Amino acid sequence: MAKIEFSEWGSDFTEVESAFVSAFSCHSSTTVADCGCGRTYFTSCPTGGDFDEGELEELQANREKEPDLYFETNVYDSIEIVAIGGEEYIPQCKCGFLRPYIQFMEIKKEQLAMFLIERFRQSIGDKERQIKRERYLLSGVERAKETYGKERDEERK
Ligand SMILES: [Zn+2]
Repeated sequence: MAKIEFSEWGSDFTEVESAFVSAFSCHSSTTVADCGCGRTYFTSCPTGGDFDEGELEELQANREKEPDLYFETNVYDSIEIVAIGGEEYIPQCKCGFLRPYIQFMEIKKEQLAMFLIERFRQSIGDKERQIKRERYLLSGVERAKETYGKERDEERK
């Protein structure tokens, strides 16, 4: 089995993580985010977003007290979040919650491509069947209109 490399908090995403995050990120740029495991991540990057009055100082004080629960970066201006099963996770979190998903997608990428092609084919098939059905119904309506129109014209004579 191919070995998948994962990055640590504060370092750049690996190639596979980067692809995963660009596809599944919530794209909500935020300065503070909680991972589903309970850890809190925040950025004090000068180009990042704003904090409420005293919020950053409080987070930094918490980081001092509980360095395994609070993580700070001053390099990235926002925290990436991926939501799975109604919960949000930080891709580089120590809990590694997202790693099996990333690993699965990386190892099964050819199968996933085949799966997506088949799903799109099915979806196009459904739409074609729906269009055919609607055309059939429409032609029925037009025939009825024509027949009814002729009968009405004859009654008027
Ligand atoms: Zn976590």
